[in-house]
Amino acid sequence: MKPVLVVGAGPVGLMTALALKFYGIEFRSFEEDNAFSSDTKAGTILTRTVEAFRRYGVDKAVLSKALRLDEIGEIERATNQRRASVMTENLFDETRFPFVLNIPQHHLEPILAEGLEDLPEGWVNLKHKLIDFTQNEDGVVARFETPEGIKEVEGSYLLACDGGRSTVRTQLGIEVEGVSLDVRYMLVDIKVDLDKANPRDYPYLAYFADPAEWMILVRQPHCWRFLFPLAPGAEEATREELEAKVRHFVGAVTSLEVLNTVIYRVHHRIASKWRNDRVFLMGDAAHLITPMWALGLNTGVLDAINLPWRLAWVLRGWADDSLLDGYEREQQPLAAHGSGEMAEAARKLMGGETGEAKAMSGTDWANAMTRSLLGVKVDAEGAGDWSIVKTERTNLRVGDRIADMPVFDGQGGRKYLHDLCDDSFAALYFTDVRRRPDIPADTLPGLRSYVVSRWDAPLDSGLRDRALLDIGNKVRDKLGLGEDVVVLLRPDDHVAAILPMASADIEGLYKTIIGRK
Ligand SMILES: Cc1cc2nc3c(=O)[nH]c(=O)nc-3n(C[C@H](O)[C@H](O)[C@H](O)COP(=O)(O)OP(=O)(O)OC[C@H]3O[C@@H](n4cnc5c(N)ncnc54)[C@H](O)[C@@H]3O)c2cc1C
Repeated sequence: MKPVLVVGAGPVGLMTALALKFYGIEFRSFEEDNAFSSDTKAGTILTRTVEAFRRYGVDKAVLSKALRLDEIGEIERATNQRRASVMTENLFDETRFPFVLNIPQHHLEPILAEGLEDLPEGWVNLKHKLIDFTQNEDGVVARFETPEGIKEVEGSYLLACDGGRSTVRTQLGIEVEGVSLDVRYMLVDIKVDLDKANPRDYPYLAYFADPAEWMILVRQPHCWRFLFPLAPGAEEATREELEAKVRHFVGAVTSLEVLNTVIYRVHHRIASKWRNDRVFLMGDAAHLITPMWALGLNTGVLDAINLPWRLAWVLRGWADDSLLDGYEREQQPLAAHGSGEMAEAARKLMGGETGEAKAMSGTDWANAMTRSLLGVKVDAEGAGDWSIVKTERTNLRVGDRIADMPVFDGQGGRKYLHDLCDDSFAALYFTDVRRRPDIPADTLPGLRSYVVSRWDAPLDSGLRDRALLDIGNKVRDKLGLGEDVVVLLRPDDHVAAILPMASADIEGLYKTIIGRK
């Protein structure tokens, strides 16, 4: 079988490659540069992305080099009052990772790349710049400029993770809709000791709103990062001016060193099409999102959660090619009207334009779910029903990401709900296991069934190896499910269906969803 070609090894290309590795799909990755990015870019990783790190096997490596935080400060700069800080303690029942991470993108990318190091030689290629490609019924042929000359590579699909100036998107003539704003941000990395020599108790990530001059403060593992808007037409500040600005903000400090500065423009742009036959746009190639609330990179990771399992199902011969259409249908509105509009609203809110930031209008729990991207509901049924902003607790719905709660298997081991979806659809039958429910044998590839019950499965029930103990019905009650209900989960933890057991033909439904011939 021809490999999948992944063009671009930024965070989204690397996560996509890790995903394909996880699913055992042969791929080749190509990056034009001779090293992973050293640019000062994204710095905050949201909880949903950490969940993807776990699935694709890099969570421990990333966590060991990142700072965890349980508070995203939302602070009125004039008064220093916290106005609606996001507390991730509200996520304790929702995820194994009830926190957000700070790690700079140039530290993250090499860690993600290390996760690919054990692959055969030739799978990950630096110094390979895509020049152009063609596609036909059987696959794609891409041409790369390399130090050894032009190289032609054949693949089954081409995944364009080649960033905002995507060569692939340009070659396809796909329009990018939206605006590039006349707004620039300046980002300054500062080495200063705000722990001991000059103790300050800023949250590790804090948004200081101010109509005159707002500021975002991010504690990175190696420095403090200050981000603020540049007045239109303003010159880049000198090092001395920057130092003075920082001192004005943090007060007198013993010593302070400017490590690095970056100025960048704000874009709010979305590709009008994300699929062209065998070619898919992902990450910044598909969407440029106002860099607020860490929604740029993290929205790209949502793409790398959604597409790879679909490709795996198709390339294993389990599913019809139409399964791949769900990628654009689900991800495009999330980026265009979800993250994109939310980030724009956040930008306006920072400058004092109130009443726009929908994400801050819910309860503490809803705000935490929204800001961590755990609250994403995908349009799983193609009915136009999706959301990115949680405003209230509701019973589990089709499209929701299921909470990653623990249950106990037949040997007493703790299993989390997301473990059940690792490389599989999972049908969870919430019922009394003592009554020996008749659940389908696991004969269809890619579908596993479990009984979830507060009763331990009797040893002679024949269900011991597929029964999960739900102590005190904690999981069932949290999800707001009744008795004798089956929930079908997709390999990306999103709910594909919720049905009464009496009428559910889960195997038939699974075949319909994946388009199994
Ligand atoms: C200053 C700044 C701060 C940011 N802060 C945050 C934040 O805190 N949180 C957040 O979530 N997001 C943030 N973002 C956005 C985030 O950096 C991007 O969304 C993210 O890098 C997108 O990842 P990507 O892999 O899609 O694209 P990129 O990171 O752009 O990677 C694309 C890769 O493709 C390669 N490539 C391009 N063309 C070719 C070709 N023809 N052939 C081969 N390779 C090619 C490039 O060299 C590059 O390595 C920030 C961005 C900036 C600029």
